[in-house]
Amino acid sequence: MNAIKLISFLLLIFSLTDGLLGADVKSTIAAIERLPRARRLIAYPDAIRQPQITPADRLALTIAFSKHAKKVSPHYLQARRAWDLDDWISIFERGFQAAPQDPDIAWALTQIHINEKRYSKALPIAEAFKQANPNHHHALAWQTVCNALPDGTPLRPNPKTIRVIPVHFCVLTKNPAAHQLATIEQCRQECEILNRNFRAYDGSALVEFTFKGFSSYAEIRDTQSDLIQYGDSTEPYDSNRIARAFNQCKDTRVRDPNAINFYIFDSYSSGPKFADMTSHGKRNSNRPYLMLDWQRLGNKVQNPEAHEMGHCFGLGHVGVPGASGKSPTNIMTSGGEQFGSGGARTYGFTEAQIALILYHAKRTSQRLGITSESN
Ligand SMILES: [Zn+2]
Repeated sequence: MNAIKLISFLLLIFSLTDGLLGADVKSTIAAIERLPRARRLIAYPDAIRQPQITPADRLALTIAFSKHAKKVSPHYLQARRAWDLDDWISIFERGFQAAPQDPDIAWALTQIHINEKRYSKALPIAEAFKQANPNHHHALAWQTVCNALPDGTPLRPNPKTIRVIPVHFCVLTKNPAAHQLATIEQCRQECEILNRNFRAYDGSALVEFTFKGFSSYAEIRDTQSDLIQYGDSTEPYDSNRIARAFNQCKDTRVRDPNAINFYIFDSYSSGPKFADMTSHGKRNSNRPYLMLDWQRLGNKVQNPEAHEMGHCFGLGHVGVPGASGKSPTNIMTSGGEQFGSGGARTYGFTEAQIALILYHAKRTSQRLGITSESN
């Protein structure tokens, strides 16, 4: 066998072996992905711990695991559950060594360290995360915080320079039952509800919301803005279309360009029809707006104001394995993540979430031209 044939033969063997191993790990991942989501958090570490595993397969499993692990934290439930964080850290440190550019591993590992207030441990990972993903908001927010804070220090804004965020309210629904509830007085109350609930897990305030204005449906019913059609729409919710209508709206009664806009609407879905109470919050490139179903005014059902405002500040959903309906879960918990019930969503934000909130509070203030600070 000449040299070229030998090399071709070796390449063939290599690709076959690689293909076989790849297929094996792919079928393992596929099998784990068929389990209930909370069970996957146990199945992945078990698979990763197998002694005969190759480095490539371990990395593939670690990446698959990190996509779930980044959504959960023992800090998302007031009564912290038994959780082998050290095991998770060693899995992700090893994964990080093998693939420092992988955003899911970096996210999962940085988040664990920041929630534990171990900023010095998180810093090199956050830096690699940022280097590989220079525009990733989490990477930017977390790297800044890890650079600034000594280990063990909670991340809190200075109460003297806390950012003041004005909120403008507008009633988009024509439903007369909604008009009974969605009054200017109630909207002032909504601001108080936000100030009470949009907080860190220890109760600290993170921003201060102020009532800026209110437009009733009667005041805006003649508007030229397309937004009004979403007040009682029976079409499936289309986040991009609504954002386009919002961004094109020039009517300041409907959209205050220098405030977070809080819409009261009537949510619809095919099963419950207008009894549906789904609500929404969108950061919208730091021109955030929130859409609350009128039946949830007054902080009804799963702390909706703070949860949707969390989306306005760039936070995504998280899950709490084993949570039941009344569990005091993190504000951003959603049953849609399929770890457990969304719970009561009354438990405040963690350090890693607060880092994002403060980062976007600054960007939002700049984008909306908000300059005032309290006292
Ligand atoms: Zn949500």
